[in-house]
Amino acid sequence: MPIDATLPYDDENIFAKILRGEIPSTRVYEDEFAIAFHDIAPVAPHHILVIPRGAYVSWDDFSARASDAEIAGFVRAVGAVARDAGMVGDGYRLLANIGRDAGQEVPHLHVHILSGRPLGPMLAR
Ligand code: 5GP
Repeated sequence: MPIDATLPYDDENIFAKILRGEIPSTRVYEDEFAIAFHDIAPVAPHHILVIPRGAYVSWDDFSARASDAEIAGFVRAVGAVARDAGMVGDGYRLLANIGRDAGQEVPHLHVHILSGRPLGPMLAR
């Protein structure tokens, strides 16, 4: 069920539990600002989620409230994850859903990194 991205942060969301280690995930990256792990239901041969350590509902919330250091750290982490996974040569797609019309389901900011085949048009028509 898509979320309302204007709601306050919910500490019990699934990615908050993954961050706290209460739910398992296959982590591929972590640093001071972000962690990355495999999506449980991949839609491409490689499908990684990158999330900030801070409590932000969405890209909207993050871009409005996060510190410059958090924003720089998160953006660098997304790039590093793709680079470390060897995705740069063939290319990859970044995707962040924000709120209802975009279909955001988990109310903790996450960027999808997708790669491993030609990914087709940006959106289904
Ligand atoms: P959204 O639709 O919010 O942009 O994407 C949420 C993503 O989180 C989906 O691609 C979904 O497969 C993934 N996801 C949901 N629950 C879990 C989970 O418990 N573990 C992992 N690794 N991914 C999850």
